[in-house]
Amino acid sequence: MATDEIYDVIIAGYGPTGMMAAIRLGAMGHRVAVIERYTTLYSLPRVGIIHDDIMRMFQEIGCMEAVLPATHFLPIYELARNGRVLMSNTVAPMATHGWPEMTSVYQPAFEAELDRLARADSNINLFTGETVAGLQQDRESVEVSTETASGETHTYRGRYLIGADGGNSFVREALGIEYVDLGFDQDWLVIDGRSKNDRSMSLPQMRQFCEPEQPGMTMQMGPFNRRWSFMILPDESREEAVRHENVWHRLDRSEGGTPADFDLIRVATYKFRSLLAERWRAGRAFLAGDAAHQMPPFLAQGLCSGFRDAYNLSWKLDLVLHAQAPPSFLDTYEEERSPNARATIIESARVGQNVIERDLERAAQRDETLLRLNAEMQARTSQKSLIAFRVPGYEAGVIARGTDARGVGDVFPQGRVRLEGREGRFDDLAGRGWLILNRNGEAASALTTNDLAFWQSLGGNFVGLGEGEGLVVDIDGTYAALMDEYRCNVILKRPDYYVFGAVPDVTLLPGLIADLRQQLSR
Ligand SMILES: Cc1cc2nc3c(=O)[nH]c(=O)nc-3n(C[C@H](O)[C@H](O)[C@H](O)COP(=O)(O)OP(=O)(O)OC[C@H]3O[C@@H](n4cnc5c(N)ncnc54)[C@H](O)[C@@H]3O)c2cc1C
Repeated sequence: MATDEIYDVIIAGYGPTGMMAAIRLGAMGHRVAVIERYTTLYSLPRVGIIHDDIMRMFQEIGCMEAVLPATHFLPIYELARNGRVLMSNTVAPMATHGWPEMTSVYQPAFEAELDRLARADSNINLFTGETVAGLQQDRESVEVSTETASGETHTYRGRYLIGADGGNSFVREALGIEYVDLGFDQDWLVIDGRSKNDRSMSLPQMRQFCEPEQPGMTMQMGPFNRRWSFMILPDESREEAVRHENVWHRLDRSEGGTPADFDLIRVATYKFRSLLAERWRAGRAFLAGDAAHQMPPFLAQGLCSGFRDAYNLSWKLDLVLHAQAPPSFLDTYEEERSPNARATIIESARVGQNVIERDLERAAQRDETLLRLNAEMQARTSQKSLIAFRVPGYEAGVIARGTDARGVGDVFPQGRVRLEGREGRFDDLAGRGWLILNRNGEAASALTTNDLAFWQSLGGNFVGLGEGEGLVVDIDGTYAALMDEYRCNVILKRPDYYVFGAVPDVTLLPGLIADLRQQLSR
């Protein structure tokens, strides 16, 4: 069966990356078709932790309140060997994006909320029980064909396609895009337990087991669950590893558990790999999430990177679908996201290397190094974390090119602000989308009528910082500190959480706008 409707965007895969892309695009008013091979959501967790920028996204799409009861703050991230802590990193309770640096979460709870938001949006059509099995594209559109379990076939047409169909992506293969292997490849056992009592809360909140005889980890997962992961050893089969008697044997340790404390809700094996798609775009089709990258989960960044892809691509598609930028503008998606994902994969594997060392001599050297670094770190009054990885900014893509611009491609933080008697997070009170933030007076009057019209066509707004009517009070000095660092008073923020560029004062703002206009017309 073929439909005549041409969707703005077809999304293959209704995992969390596909859900986020659908919610964003639907909210922007685009017609979206999402195709998922399964008929129901997967009801068990894979993801255990999300980072502060993802919490900011949940805040933006409106599901934070509903997700919060399924979360738990992890204050410490430890590396330990047989109970001896080698390094103890303090996790920031309030990080750059206005939320804890890491939050443990029960995945089915947040997926249910994303699902609810997607289903509530009449712009989104969800086709479940259909497997994407063919795709073709021409200069105008993409055509996707699907099959159901009973052998029915359907065809969908869209102006663009997002392949968010996971690690074994059909879309990636159909586009002839290879993964580049960055070198990590190991079988691991993942055990999830539901607490029967309060033992879980007395175990380490987040601990990597740097034990040559058995590398592994454990963490509290949301308020009611606990995860353990263990490397499957070379002389062991996956089938042996998942047998429950072997699982309980592995958990017979001080950071483990017994059937009296936990019900096993899932035991599974996974391949931890580090893979990056060599290209993220082919014509009208794009890859996002695990279809574009896979990483070992030592920094809990895999899905977070998928959410970042969905965010990045959706505002760019929005501009192109509204004819505010040409299709070539969409090349900036890969220019920005691919290096960012690569850096995240490499750092995840590097942290993992500390955990998986099996050579006794090298493990002893590692212990010495970690203990020394830990002692130095604990003696400091500030920075109490060595492995906290901050996702890098963008060095290419939609960032200011002019020599006057500073802060280009940096993360735009979310601090606490006050506006007209209300206190809260910046995004909720000062606004989202394209913003010009200015701390000395008025910025709009510095623009010509033409520039102003361009800015308004993007939905751009102005935010004045300071005390007084209509001005935003920067309660903790978050933006003052950033502007001091840049020696600037004006920041142009993109629709996501990044800085396009900052300039010392409003007289240089027209140059920044001209730069942006040029990039949107490239
Ligand atoms: C043990 C473990 C722990 C992890 N912990 C974390 C963590 O703490 N934090 C974190 O950020 N990440 C973590 N990750 C990574 C995270 O699980 C993945 O990055 C994330 O699930 C990827 O989401 P996705 O939507 O891109 O892909 P998926 O979740 O794989 O979703 C893809 C969807 O596409 C569907 N699909 C596939 N093929 C087709 C087709 N042909 N037609 C139609 N539908 C199709 C699938 O059914 C699925 O619903 C962890 C991973 C593992 C293995």
